[in-house]
Amino acid sequence: MKKKFLPVMMLALVLLTYSWLQAQMPTLEKKPEEVKRALSLVSETQPVLEKYKVGFDSITPADTLNMLGYISSDWMEGRDTGSHGFGVAADYVVSMFKMWGVRPGGDEARMNMNIDMFRAMARGGGRPGQPAGRSYFQEFTLKEISDSKTLLTIEVTRGSSLKSRTFQGGIDFMSLFPAEERMEGPVVFAGYGIKEPSIGWDELKGLNLKDKVVVVISEAPGKDDPKSPFNQKKELKDKYFPEDQGRQMMLMRMRGRGQRFNKLDEIYKQQPAAVLIVQNRGKDSDIYNSLGADQNALPSDDKPIIDMPRKRLVIPGAKDMMSEMMGGASAPTVNITREMANLLLENTGKTIDGWKKAIETTYKPASKDIPGARVSINSTATSQLIKAKNIIAYIEGTDPKLKDEYFVVGAHFDHVGRWQDYIFNGSDDNGSGSVGVMAIARAMALNPVKPKRTIVFCLWTGEEKGLLGSRYYVQNPTFPMDRTVGYLNYDMISRAFDEQTMERYQKMLGVAGVEDLIKKIRPAYFATVNATKDSGFYEIQQEMNKYVGLDLYINEPELGAGGGGSDHSSFAAVKKPYVYYMTSMHPDYHQPSDSVDKASGDLLSRVIRLGYLTVFAFADK
Ligand SMILES: [Zn+2]
Repeated sequence: MKKKFLPVMMLALVLLTYSWLQAQMPTLEKKPEEVKRALSLVSETQPVLEKYKVGFDSITPADTLNMLGYISSDWMEGRDTGSHGFGVAADYVVSMFKMWGVRPGGDEARMNMNIDMFRAMARGGGRPGQPAGRSYFQEFTLKEISDSKTLLTIEVTRGSSLKSRTFQGGIDFMSLFPAEERMEGPVVFAGYGIKEPSIGWDELKGLNLKDKVVVVISEAPGKDDPKSPFNQKKELKDKYFPEDQGRQMMLMRMRGRGQRFNKLDEIYKQQPAAVLIVQNRGKDSDIYNSLGADQNALPSDDKPIIDMPRKRLVIPGAKDMMSEMMGGASAPTVNITREMANLLLENTGKTIDGWKKAIETTYKPASKDIPGARVSINSTATSQLIKAKNIIAYIEGTDPKLKDEYFVVGAHFDHVGRWQDYIFNGSDDNGSGSVGVMAIARAMALNPVKPKRTIVFCLWTGEEKGLLGSRYYVQNPTFPMDRTVGYLNYDMISRAFDEQTMERYQKMLGVAGVEDLIKKIRPAYFATVNATKDSGFYEIQQEMNKYVGLDLYINEPELGAGGGGSDHSSFAAVKKPYVYYMTSMHPDYHQPSDSVDKASGDLLSRVIRLGYLTVFAFADK
């Protein structure tokens, strides 16, 4: 039996997801016409057009599962960014690309000249300045931050007495404080921190938050009180009291809209030193429980709770991922316990629950500067530089002009690695998507007819650490970004919905008038698609699915809307249209149990066939 550990590292990840959820509350429900438009249900397929046939037929359940088995075997050690296992798996992909005749599209080789090449040149084996061709890799440097430790000290002065207590991140409170930073400041209590003009509610009025530490309560006042102004309209209820997170996650995936709401944005605008959040409901121990992953899942050898050494990777000099997720403006944000909040508020004569009650009885803001209270936060870490690489290959377009335009097909190749005896194989996440990119490359190479535009195949590194590989690529493209016309992203495309998850999904779509249609969705063949609005991707899905036979739900996010979650966000950020495929979420997500035996080869190969036809049609217009 393995020893069970405190879920420190997992909590950090969950907190990220949690903030992302907070930032992406659902908008209004769909209308029946919208659901009808979004669905593409095809149980009987037509023979594919001759033009695509050879490539199409090369994508089979057996072949895709074979590739997936290799990439997600224990030998690849979970393909962590910068690891030996990632390198071994990457070499496999490169050898396949070579065999299929898919050309290298990474760095110019002279940029990676090593000492042997210099020696060969000195012997007259090569001429300087002449590019020796491209590599299959795009290499770059990442900063690895480890052993980070955050201490938060609260000082309360009253007359001549001083109380001081220090709390540790990950044990006493949850933090994702940027590494190696220190800050301190006086404290402001901002109630629920809400500015909601539609009901004349402003808890920030009259406060100066700049360089101060702002304490807020999560959610909004009076959740269970019908008299609460936040309970008077459905929009406000949806905005401030969202339903359970599982439902939210699904709604977000369905809608794929970029609209986001985060009440903290108003606070961030004033550039506070830090924001401390107290949970609206529950006890101190609930900070961990409410953020804890799947509360029904008990740890087992298959699904251990692991205290992996805390490590973060960043692109040196780039903005922090948290602040990017928060839409640019942000401040260090920490979840604190009631015990900590009570100490901070000691000089006010009321506890946090006392203030909460005061706000919820009068429905008037109670924001104020807290006399005599100061907070300092001190984060330390060690950092080192590591090498990481994307894999990039291409097939040249056939049109003399249009071949200088590019379509990128991508998926993240990295996963979360290994820890002691546990190997996180990452078969679905994202061995499956990686196989998608490989299989489309192979199909295009085999097919006698090629698209007019050039197709670039990318397997990204560092996605699990914050979309690092794709973010690096859009800033440092190996094919010009201004002539890149679109992007396809695969992330987790091998796991079929089961009856239970499908039923839940169907219920959410179940608006009056479309129930019969929704009942026809077959769980084994269901996939969600996000296709940038007015880009042509939507029409191509409806057209090409006739040859593939999937049941699709197609969201149409606006151009530039990320929808979060995977590498398409990097392309959305530079305003490229994208199409993004995903199948069912599952309890093996980021667990050592995400293994190839649970993949559906039938579903996987169909999603890849649809991607192949989509890329072909889009790049051939
Ligand atoms: Zn993934």
